[in-house]
Amino acid sequence: MNESGPYDGFWSGFGSDLGEATLVAGALALFRHHSCHVRGCARLGRPVDGTPYLACPKHHPAHQGQKRGVSQTTIHTAHQQRHSSTA
Ligand SMILES: [Zn+2]
Repeated sequence: MNESGPYDGFWSGFGSDLGEATLVAGALALFRHHSCHVRGCARLGRPVDGTPYLACPKHHPAHQGQKRGVSQTTIHTAHQQRHSSTA
């Protein structure tokens, strides 16, 4: 049995500190690229139709009310508006 630890091979596969730094920087850039564009908001955003901006569920203009508190009418109305605007 190898008592030195089963993770030795795992960690050595990550390579140098440079590799890890690149990984962290990449993850950060990815997060910033996908975060809400409202100043001071760090939530992940989704594209706002017709704009180059991203907005989180709280700041998205197409979102009304609480995420889990919308009525079926709200969803139906949004769905029909979407269809009538693209038709
Ligand atoms: Zn936001």
